[in-house]
Amino acid sequence: MTETKKFNCITCPRGCELTVTLQDGKFQSVTGNFCPNGAKYAEQEVTAPMRMLTGTVKLTGAGLPLLPVVSTAELPKDKILLAAAELRKITVAAPVKYGDIIIHNILGLGVDMIASCDFACIK
Ligand code: SF4
Repeated sequence: MTETKKFNCITCPRGCELTVTLQDGKFQSVTGNFCPNGAKYAEQEVTAPMRMLTGTVKLTGAGLPLLPVVSTAELPKDKILLAAAELRKITVAAPVKYGDIIIHNILGLGVDMIASCDFACIK
């Protein structure tokens, strides 16, 4: 059975509208992509969609309540909500430096969550 799916490429701000053709649930082709990155994204999106995770964790001792964090690589899209729930369990104490590992190997997926900015202690 042939089917088509339409969605926008989220790889860059151009946001090309992609049309993907699947045959028996398997990727066949894509149109609408301005560049090869869109083709790569389209195939991944219909087979094993991935997303970067950004969020915040609680922060103490810095005068601000939250520390921005980001994943070091993309996570499976179907694990994003579970991973975000892990962020809500964490409290970090200042000082924190950009790149500090806040959660190592989140959900056992081989990806770390790191601080995305510096926070000094406020005394
Ligand atoms: S297909 Fe290429 S140009 Fe279009 S949104 Fe994706 S990355 Fe950007």
